[in-house]
Amino acid sequence: LVEVRDLTKDYAEGENVARVLKGVQLTVAQGELVALLGPSGSGKSTLLNILGTLMRPTSGSVRVLGQSLVGAEDLVLTEFRNRHIGFVFQAHLLLPDFTALENVMFPAAARHGRERHTDRARASELLDRVGLSDRRDYLASQLSGGQKQRVAVARSLMNAPELVLADEPTGNLDRESADRVMQLLIDINSSDGTGFLISTHDENIAARCQRQIYMADGRIADDRR
Ligand code: ATP
Ligand code: MG
Repeated sequence: LVEVRDLTKDYAEGENVARVLKGVQLTVAQGELVALLGPSGSGKSTLLNILGTLMRPTSGSVRVLGQSLVGAEDLVLTEFRNRHIGFVFQAHLLLPDFTALENVMFPAAARHGRERHTDRARASELLDRVGLSDRRDYLASQLSGGQKQRVAVARSLMNAPELVLADEPTGNLDRESADRVMQLLIDINSSDGTGFLISTHDENIAARCQRQIYMADGRIADDRR
């Protein structure tokens, strides 16, 4: 599913260049549920953003589902992302002035350039699956943090991606809501075989994944199953 070799990423810092990924090697099999741990600043979000084609690597090779993310044209990457990758982020979750249903439908509209008659039904079904059918027509701004996070999970699945990248999906939730969101990801992983890469600071969440990858200072320091 994911094949990363000798990946580096530099950020410009004024006149200087800071290397934040310093040679990452990573293989993730189809359908794996992986936790990404490590101290703040160790490079977790940077790695997820590169895998999600939101950011270009500085050097190395990165393949997702066989597609090389190095050297591909922007348009090819956008199309690839819309088709195969789902995102769940901690911040900037939802469009606040759109309803839960409209938020979930959004990736389909982005992919196809218009709403198709089947999109509404699929989005509705996904909201049902995350236990929020009764909040379908609420504006995102009228939902609680945990509810928004579950809408974000539903949205990440709209285009039936093979890989979902979740950057601290439970970061701002209480224990109970966090466990509920995590259970949802586990259920989706086992029923659909969707691969998940989940960055988290929460050991409880990580322990429920099949594999724990620890990053430290831009490298993978440990990899446990
Ligand atoms: P956290 O657990 O706090 O989310 P992280 O492991 O996700 O941390 P990253 O966000 O990947 O860490 O950041 C890694 C390093 O890269 C940090 O030192 C950060 O300051 C730097 N960095 C991140 N984004 C940029 C950017 N756009 N420009 C410059 N430096 C950046
Ligand atoms: Mg981060």
